[in-house]
Amino acid sequence: QLPADPPYLRGLNPEQRDAVLTTEGPVLVLAGAGTGKTAALTARLAHLLYTRRAWPSEILAVTFTNKAAREMRERVGRLVGEAVEGMPWLGTFHAIGAKMLRRHAELVGLQSNFTIIDTDDQLRLLKQLIVAADIDEKRFPARSLAGLIDQWKNKGLTPEQIDAGEAERYANGRGQELYAQYQARLKAVNACDFGDLLLHMLVLFRTEREVLELYQQRFRYIMVDEYQDTNSVQYLWLRLLAQERKNIACVGDDDQSIYSWRGAQVENILRFERDFPGAKIIRLEQNYRSTPHILAAASGVIAHNGGRLGKELWTELDQGEKVRVLGVWDGPEEARRVGEEIESVQRRGQSLDDVAILVRAQHQTREFEDRFIAIGLPYKIIGGFRFYERAEIRDALAYLRVVHQPADDLAFERIVNVPKRGLGDKAVARIHQLARGIDAPLSTAAARILDTDELTGAARKSLGRFVGDIARWRDMANELPHPELARQILDESGYTAALQAEKSAEAAGRLENLTELVRAMEEYESLEAFLEHVSLVMDNDAAKDAPKVTIMTIHAAKGLEFDTVFLAGWEEGLFPSQRAMDEGGTASLEEERRLAYVAITRARRRATILHAANRRIYGQWTSSLPSRFVGELPQEHIETETSMTGGESLWRANWSEHADPFANLARGSGRGPGWQRAASAGSGFTTTAQPRVIEARASAVTLGAKPRADLAVGQRVFHQKFGYGAIAEIEGNKLEIDFEHAGRKRVMDSFVTAG
Ligand code: ATP
Ligand code: MG
Repeated sequence: QLPADPPYLRGLNPEQRDAVLTTEGPVLVLAGAGTGKTAALTARLAHLLYTRRAWPSEILAVTFTNKAAREMRERVGRLVGEAVEGMPWLGTFHAIGAKMLRRHAELVGLQSNFTIIDTDDQLRLLKQLIVAADIDEKRFPARSLAGLIDQWKNKGLTPEQIDAGEAERYANGRGQELYAQYQARLKAVNACDFGDLLLHMLVLFRTEREVLELYQQRFRYIMVDEYQDTNSVQYLWLRLLAQERKNIACVGDDDQSIYSWRGAQVENILRFERDFPGAKIIRLEQNYRSTPHILAAASGVIAHNGGRLGKELWTELDQGEKVRVLGVWDGPEEARRVGEEIESVQRRGQSLDDVAILVRAQHQTREFEDRFIAIGLPYKIIGGFRFYERAEIRDALAYLRVVHQPADDLAFERIVNVPKRGLGDKAVARIHQLARGIDAPLSTAAARILDTDELTGAARKSLGRFVGDIARWRDMANELPHPELARQILDESGYTAALQAEKSAEAAGRLENLTELVRAMEEYESLEAFLEHVSLVMDNDAAKDAPKVTIMTIHAAKGLEFDTVFLAGWEEGLFPSQRAMDEGGTASLEEERRLAYVAITRARRRATILHAANRRIYGQWTSSLPSRFVGELPQEHIETETSMTGGESLWRANWSEHADPFANLARGSGRGPGWQRAASAGSGFTTTAQPRVIEARASAVTLGAKPRADLAVGQRVFHQKFGYGAIAEIEGNKLEIDFEHAGRKRVMDSFVTAG
């Protein structure tokens, strides 16, 4: 029995109430951003519990992120109290899939304590299979196979269901075979990957009647947020689970479908009506989030997409400020302006928690991070690592550290076999042992072990090359500007080539990050200054719960809202992305436009869109055009401001600083003014570098002067690898030994014990 005014219905509009109170039968809420879809879904959950239509364990509620699940749980908790305790089936598809699979693991040949492997493990496993299958991994990288297998799993396809056409997509038709082997291998080690969490359960639903019936009975009510981004396997799940009771409520917005690259299908919205005949379709049109200007700006952009389901949005909020479109000179100025703006809203009393910067590509966050550190503005990065914490950035930094600081063992260890150069654990263990023995850094030990026979064959050759590279890079450090040095190191070490060979979107992103790193280096006078900056950045952990500006990608911002939002880098080639532009068709451009719509509609009160006239891309200044989406913003709802025309002095200052960014383009020269600027700064670097080199040499001399006192010519000694022998010659730390079985060898004294 419903009390007159249950707390969760308060303030809901009639359509939202309809979505809450229509508990029986299929319901689809199809509505634009900020219309209270998630709010309605949360109230619906509260209603089901409050009215005892279901126990907490009888409701399946799917959210897009774990964070969203937590928030929903908290909100329902506030609305109905402890009834929310034990909502075991509230979470993401993956979390729910994992929980189910643990219960039925044995039915798919796993044990309930199976491991969920990550991408690294996945790639390693695939590589082994590829090698075993005698496939050229360089031509057909593990990563592309991994991507393909993910796609198949997202579509709900098991190896048996891969047809010849699909199999053709990897290594001339061997995709299916490898997929099957991969699945077998996973089973053998009692593991599964992310895709399996859903796929195994789908297979069980289809093949084990009792399993399906168990969950069909259990879930009296099913609800799904962000429904437009479900993929096929998720859709198939929902259809099977809801078949019996048909109490399924989904909320979504076709204009916010932004995960098609991960297999999401907006068509699932259309399929819903077909698969659940008589479904009640509810449309919400009142937006409670954004001011009219913001809403109109977003609607104006998305109106350029074709094939939309179409909807009206209105709001009762005050007109508010127009959306600002800010043209700046270049990336650094963009970060500077945003920093200033944020400080000014902060002065007006707004919390930093209500401010967000949304970017299209991960690598864009770096410029903001550096700026905010410089001015002491606390920030956090959501849905990704902070720039300098990303794996590829850490790898690159490790190379630079090894070159700059020979004693940096952690850095050496990180990259000694990255990219893979055949220096396995064994070889590294030998180097370690020697380093301990002679009390020298690993990079020194690595060089000295080559004077001996400790390492043989491929490992020796490979280490020789690596040691030679490091020595050459150290020399180069005295001559080249440091960004150029970094670029050469990344090329010569094979790091860049390894990423290029992967040909995946992820690898492309990593390459962009590396380019961004080299770019960042140009802003520092020397390698030393740059590395110093980085260590400070790494240390910048503002107090845990102090308010912070949020920096994140638009993808990660789905479903969220902030009072003040900055949308950075609205330029052709960045947003829409070059990839989307190159693909040519309308589909990818329309997905970019939906991203633009998602981005603008995150703002409650203030939205500022920025575009820079110049970006440094691959070390070159390139003039960039404002995004086509800027042009699509309805004039009457925006206010345009360009710092370049307003302040000529600023313009000039920048101009002289960077020289002529366009001249470079016109000449098509391989070297932008950025490099030239860095080159002149490089001379400063040489002087600071000098003492360091001398120091390194000095330490090598000292090391040579510390031979072991307990050894003498003629003495019998034992060596781990070569066995017993007699010392024939002693030269510093190096020994010539006549081994009983191995013959004469040169070894380091730290590897022998007096026999
Ligand atoms: P998105 O498409 O971005 O996920 P949404 O449709 O899920 O948006 P919500 O996040 O549920 O929208 O709601 C947007 C904002 O409007 C929230 O701050 C929410 O609290 C508020 N809101 C929702 N419904 C109402 C209402 N009936 N009255 C007042 N405020 C509301
Ligand atoms: Mg929502």
